[in-house]
Amino acid sequence: MRKIMVAGNWKMHGSMSMVETLLGGVIDGLDDTMPVDVAVFPPAPYLPQVQAMANGSRVAWGGQTLNPNEQGAYTGEVSGAMLVDFGCRYVLVGHSERRTLFGESDADVAERFEAAQRDGLVPVLCIGETQAQREAGETEAVVAAQIDAVLDRCGIAAFDQALVAYEPVWAIGTGLTATPEQAQDVHAFIRDKLSALDGRIGGQIRILYGGSVKSSNAADLFARDDIDGALVGGASLTAGDFLGICRGA
Ligand code: PGA
Repeated sequence: MRKIMVAGNWKMHGSMSMVETLLGGVIDGLDDTMPVDVAVFPPAPYLPQVQAMANGSRVAWGGQTLNPNEQGAYTGEVSGAMLVDFGCRYVLVGHSERRTLFGESDADVAERFEAAQRDGLVPVLCIGETQAQREAGETEAVVAAQIDAVLDRCGIAAFDQALVAYEPVWAIGTGLTATPEQAQDVHAFIRDKLSALDGRIGGQIRILYGGSVKSSNAADLFARDDIDGALVGGASLTAGDFLGICRGA
C-alpha cells in the first residue's frame, strides 16, 4: 500500500513570524491517527527555522529547487548538499514555475533530478501539460517526454527513490482543479509507463497530484487508485487549510 503524502509548496511566501504560526499550527494539528506523510517546502532562507521547529515531528521538509553543481561561482544558487545541511529529505525538481519563469528544460530538470540523488535527497519530479497542450490532445506526449528526459539520464532504477507530482499547469493557482477522473487518467498513464520498465518500481512510486488542491476536493482525489497524495500551493499557506487536506487522506 502506498501511503498518502501531503506536501506544501510555500513558493516565495512567508516571513519568520508566518513560518512560526503556519508550521507550529501544522505540527500541533497533526493527529497521530491521520494516515499521511507530511512535508513542507519553504523558501531557502527559512530552512534553519523549519529544521529547528520540525525536527523530531512528523513533518519532513525540502528545498523548492537546487542547482545541480556541487559548489562554485553560481551567484544566488543553492546546492543539494546545502539543503542536506539543513536536514532536507526532499527537493522539488521541475516545478512548472521553474520551467516557465526560469527556463528549465526537460534536460535541465533531469540534471537536477540526478544531482538531488547524488546529494542524498529524494527528488519530487514535477510534470504537467499546459492548457494549450491539453486542448491539442498532447497531455500524454508531454508528460511522457518530461519523464523520458529523466529516464534517459538516470534510468528506471532512479525512480525507486523519487516521487512524481503531476501538476497540470492550467490548474496551478487558478482555482481550476483537474477532476479526479482527469487526474486519475494521467496518473495511471504515468504509473503504467514506469511499470512497463519495472513493475515493482511502478507499483510502489507515489504520484502526487497538484493544482488547486483544497480541503473540499482532497478526499475525492485521494480516493482514486493512482493518486497518492497532493502537492499543495495556495492552500498550504494556512495551517487550517493544509490540515483539512491531510484529513482527506
Ligand atoms: P496551487 O499550487 O495549489 O496553488 O494550485 C500547486 C503547486 O504549484 O505546486
